Amino acid sequence: MPTRPYLFYALTNSVCSKCLTKVEAKIIFQEGNVYLVKHCLIHGREEVLIADDIEYYKQCQEFIKPGDMPHRFNTPIKYGCPYDCGLCPDHEQHSCLTLVEVSDRCNLSCPIWVVF
Ligand SMILES: [Zn+2]
Repeated sequence: MPTRPYLFYALTNSVCSKCLTKVEAKIIFQEGNVYLVKHCLIHGREEVLIADDIEYYKQCQEFIKPGDMPHRFNTPIKYGCPYDCGLCPDHEQHSCLTLVEVSDRCNLSCPIWVVF
């Protein structure tokens, strides 16, 4: 029996990079890399490299703690995550630093300045 060329790790939610529609996404391991594989009903399949070290990616997943709540929520829950982000009462991500997700889809032409 043939096997797939990747290892399925988890299922999550993401957005289509073209229409920003919320889509299901598989997290897969393939050839030492971690990919997010999305499927939009309009724009089809999209595969995004999210890590180039599987063990480091898994270690990052082990860091979990109760979420910090802001002193004041800025947006109501109306459409659900991620459309109400700003922070809404359903926000689960820890407040820490500005989070900029850079993937292989980034063309570095946005107006955000990142200092490393
Ligand atoms: Zn789409």
